[in-house]
Order: sequence, then C-alpha cells, then structure tokens
Amino acid sequence: MKSKPLLLANIGQLLTLRASAPGPRRGAALSDLGILEDASVLCLGGKIVSVGKTKDALCDPWLKKNRRQVREIDCSGRVVLPGFVDSHTHPVFAHPRLIDFEKRISGANYEEIAEAGGGIRSSIVGVRKATKAVLTQKLLAALRDMASYGTTAVEAKSGYGLDLASELKSLEAIRAAARQWPGTVVPTFLGAHTVPPEYRRRSQAYVDLVCNEMMPAVAKRKLARFADVFCDRGAFSAQEAEQIFRAAEENGFALRAHIGQLSETRLAPFLRFNPASLDHLDYVNEADVRALAASDTVATFVPGANYFLGLSRYPNARQFIAAGVVVALGTDYNPGSSPTLSVPMAMSLACTHMKMSAAEAITAATINGAWALRIADQKGSIEPGKDADLAVFNLKDHREIPYWFGVNHCQLTILNGIAEERP
Ligand SMILES: [Zn+2]
Repeated sequence: MKSKPLLLANIGQLLTLRASAPGPRRGAALSDLGILEDASVLCLGGKIVSVGKTKDALCDPWLKKNRRQVREIDCSGRVVLPGFVDSHTHPVFAHPRLIDFEKRISGANYEEIAEAGGGIRSSIVGVRKATKAVLTQKLLAALRDMASYGTTAVEAKSGYGLDLASELKSLEAIRAAARQWPGTVVPTFLGAHTVPPEYRRRSQAYVDLVCNEMMPAVAKRKLARFADVFCDRGAFSAQEAEQIFRAAEENGFALRAHIGQLSETRLAPFLRFNPASLDHLDYVNEADVRALAASDTVATFVPGANYFLGLSRYPNARQFIAAGVVVALGTDYNPGSSPTLSVPMAMSLACTHMKMSAAEAITAATINGAWALRIADQKGSIEPGKDADLAVFNLKDHREIPYWFGVNHCQLTILNGIAEERP
C-alpha cells in the first residue's frame, strides 16, 4: 500500500488536537480541540507535513512546484479531525451472539447467561473451530467497517481462543489482517479473558498455563504488544490478575486490564505496575480515582457495553475528569456486550449518559486513546511529523458528530496517508 501526496483544503473546522502541554489530556485540557477554521493539511509519504490556513498552504513553494502530483481534496467547509484511536476492541470472533441477545431481552443477566453456557464461553467454541483464514477475513471486514466510521488506529485483543493453539491462531489472524489494512492495529494478548470450560473450578491451573506457556509463546513470536486481564466477579480475582501482570511484565508486555465492570476491585495493586490503561471502571472508589489521577494510567470508558447490556449505571466520567484522571473512550467492539464498531456512537453515549461534552468525547477518542495505546507520539492529533490519519465528516460543526447518534456522517478516512472513501 503506497500513499500519494494529499492536500485537504477548505476545511471548515479542523480539529488539530495539537498539544499545548506535554503528556496526556486531563481536566480542562480535554476541551481544547485546537480548532483552525478555513484550514488545510498537506500529507506526504504517509505523514502530515503542514497544517494551516488554506491560503497559506496554497502559497507553499513545494506545493506550487509539485501541485500536479498532489491529490487535492476540497473539503467544502466540512469538519476534519484526527482519525479515531479505538483503544479497546475484541474483534477476533466467529459469530454474533444472538442467543445472549434474546435471553437478555427476556430478563436474564450477564452472569445467568454465562451460567447457561452463553457469554464469552460460547464465542470460544466458534473461534476454536474457525480457521485462521476465516478469522482473518472477518477481522479485515471489521477493520474496513471501522475505517468507514473514522477509525484509523485500533487495539485488537485475542481472548476467545483460550488454549495455546487458538490464542496463537487469533493473534496470527490479527497480524495477517493488519497487513492488509492501511490503518494501524495494536495487538493485545487476552488469554486471561475468562476461565475456559475445561478448567472450570481450576482457575489457578489455567492462570499458570497463561503465565507459563501462553505468554512466553506469544512473546517469542512477537504477536502482541500488550497483555490484558479481565479482573472481576466471575472472571479472575485480584490475586490472579496480579500474577498475570507479573508474568506479563517478565515477558516484556505492556499492561492493560478490564476492571470494575461488575464489582469494585481496588486499583492500587495494579497501578504499581504502571499499566497503560484500566478499562470499564463502573465501580471504583474515590481514593482509587485520586490514585489514578496521580498516575499516567488512562481510564478507558466503554459505554457501548453499558448501553447494550441495558444497564442504567454508567461510569461516573465527571468524577474522573474533575479529579484529573486521563480518560479515553473505546467501543469495546465484541459479540457479547458491545457489538458496535462505531466510535461516534460511543461518543454519543458518553455525552448523553456520562455527561461528557462533545469536545471531551472527541479528545478521549483521539489523542487520549493514543496515549492509552502508547502511540501518542505518532497518532491522535493533526500536527506536522505525525502519521497522516484523518477523518472527514460531512458536517459543519464537530458537535454534530455525537449529536446525530446511530448515523454515519464520516465521508472519507485517511489511514497512514491512504484515502478510503466510504463505500
Ligand atoms: Zn473488553
């Protein structure tokens, strides 16, 4: 995939998200979108080379000389922002979970569905049976759909294989799909998603397998940058999660965790490991919010899961933001609890149910998502030197992105300098 020189001109609102201070965004800085009006962006070799007023860009001596080779895109007053960085997805699965969907509608809760053989375990069967080629094709289709909603960088977790061969197969599918997609994929090993059925009531034996066999095998093949664990009631205990974090660290993985989705787990023992992100955080106490605020660990909210599970409770984003925690937003794209890959939908839920402003939601889904994946040096803002990842929305005002919920107004996505028009 080769990128051509691109000039985006006549942008109505360019949300640059440029840094006014080093480090991830907190508090009032979440609302600073660095908006330029009547702007242009020039991209060369997959990188952003200049950002400014359209009239200045057109005077650029390089551009004047080389205008013929440049593809010009007239944005006609539309909104352009950094491509979304979706820092929490589970895209390697074989089938939708329609039984869970119907059971939940008729009143069963998350744990009752799991008890009845639904939940994560039912996706395990599908992934174990699927070939790597099938998983790769499904994942590639999902990545293309994500791009059509404005996402240019995505974290992708394994975690529906849960035996050595199926976890390696899932991560290899991620690698194979990533090579065929112009965007950026950050792979995460989530062998500790749940205890698979063959280890029922022997969770310690499974944790040992994850730590002693799976992690070294994944590390040796360089298949994942992060390791993740689902620490909650019905999944792994805090003690087991700590063992998994220790092993992950020894195997050279950066860390992230699912925590506080169903019940409260103290965060302090995890913060000692300096995880890149702790995700969900529906249940958390005030002291832990203060501890998070004192760290660089990102709190990633995934309101799509609260919405789809029909919960009335959402994470208390205002408490986190007021305390100075770095917050990000992800889709949690997965077949059980959040079958959406639309970041604008997650943003809309963050606005309506978590009382985040449109600007805060945009920052959380771009530059702070990049911090959550530790790729903020290259992604998440429109600044010279960064990767050419941009989304053009057929809207006049950025606040319309979360306002028009469930409607896709993304018209064009540029992924590492490669323009993909919406089909
Ligand atoms: Zn998740």
